[in-house]
Amino acid sequence: MRVAIVGAGPAGLFFALLMKRARPGDDLVVLEQNPRDATFGFGVVYSQGALGFLARDEPEMHARLAAAMESWPIQRIVHRDVAVDIDGNGFSAIARLKLLQILADACQGSGVRLEFNRALAGVPGGFDLVVGADGLNSTVRGKLAFQPRIEWLTNKFVWYGTTKVFDCLTLTFRESRHGPFVAHHYRYSPTMSTFIVECEEASWRRAGLDRMSDAESRAYCEAVFAKDLGGEPLVSNKSIWRNFPLLTNDTWFVGNTVLIGDALRTGHFSIGSGTRLAMDDAIALARAFDHAGDDVAEALREFERQRRPVVEKLVAAANRSSYWYEQLSDKMRLDPWQLAYDYMTRSGRMSDERLEQEAPRFMGAIRARRRSAAAGS
Ligand SMILES: Cc1cc2nc3c(=O)[nH]c(=O)nc-3n(C[C@H](O)[C@H](O)[C@H](O)COP(=O)(O)OP(=O)(O)OC[C@H]3O[C@@H](n4cnc5c(N)ncnc54)[C@H](O)[C@@H]3O)c2cc1C
Repeated sequence: MRVAIVGAGPAGLFFALLMKRARPGDDLVVLEQNPRDATFGFGVVYSQGALGFLARDEPEMHARLAAAMESWPIQRIVHRDVAVDIDGNGFSAIARLKLLQILADACQGSGVRLEFNRALAGVPGGFDLVVGADGLNSTVRGKLAFQPRIEWLTNKFVWYGTTKVFDCLTLTFRESRHGPFVAHHYRYSPTMSTFIVECEEASWRRAGLDRMSDAESRAYCEAVFAKDLGGEPLVSNKSIWRNFPLLTNDTWFVGNTVLIGDALRTGHFSIGSGTRLAMDDAIALARAFDHAGDDVAEALREFERQRRPVVEKLVAAANRSSYWYEQLSDKMRLDPWQLAYDYMTRSGRMSDERLEQEAPRFMGAIRARRRSAAAGS
């Protein structure tokens, strides 16, 4: 088969690698608009659960990525200067650039053709299969009848890096005189951390962030999070304030053209799973060809059959998580422990019993606080 993959992000590269490994005789080309090694953002984070799936499904790639990852066993929530640690909630992170380099090297080593500086203006013709792995603003999606739906979240967020090296994945809540802010931050290398800042649109406008230059915006956020950054600067890489789009497509494939990764649907960064979803799509699509052989239509049907229920469940959880942040002002009124509990149960999938099992120390502290509150009243 001749296969064109548009986009050399995690979804496109990983799919190319898996297909080439399973079907070495196929001609696979990945077409990417940017030069090699140009990417946005800083690090990406995976939950232990997400890495567990990768270890099970693709142990070799898991081992390569794990060697380049930073890992920690807890998550921390900081509110009113109180740090609440949530045990059993481990995560790992890797530089986005490093992840893409590992995937691109593996692709080239196995005979996939990578063509950089190839911005596609339409769907490439003359291929048996076209994979639109060209991200959120997918050109492939725009050219065919995929029926996308986008709901824009109202909060503003910006993705910075910093040279401050944090212990673990941390959510830090701070009040500024213009309103509440929250930072999602974690180290992704021994010298760098991701630092995503989020706030309500009203605070953003009151602060004048809608009119600030990049340097002014960073200076403002450095002041809000001065206690957390300890004098280290925020760093930009195409870092602009925007709203998060919750994207879904009613149609997953049109003819021989299929969408995967962010082109297909987004997953809010607060559950750290956009890259995981993208890579799991790649695994599922490659498996569908194991099942269907050269029958592209059957493979695409099988991909959707197997993958849609899983994706819909995860996206529902990610959406519930993203709506939690849309109530930032209300959440700030909770005390640090209430806030942490509310946060941990935000997706609707975490019961007290499950928390007891997965985060016994945290849940023990919550129960002790409930008992003393009951005794007090
Ligand atoms: C603020 C923020 C924080 C995030 N944090 C995390 C996180 O911690 N963990 C996580 O897992 N995910 C995170 N994500 C999400 C993650 O970045 C994406 O989900 C992931 O990159 C999706 O992979 P992809 O391969 O589908 O798309 P992308 O990574 O977007 O790759 C698409 C590629 O297609 C190329 N392309 C686009 N159009 C064309 C064209 N016309 N022709 C040729 N090439 C084209 C692009 O240049 C790009 O290289 C975050 C996202 C945001 C916005």
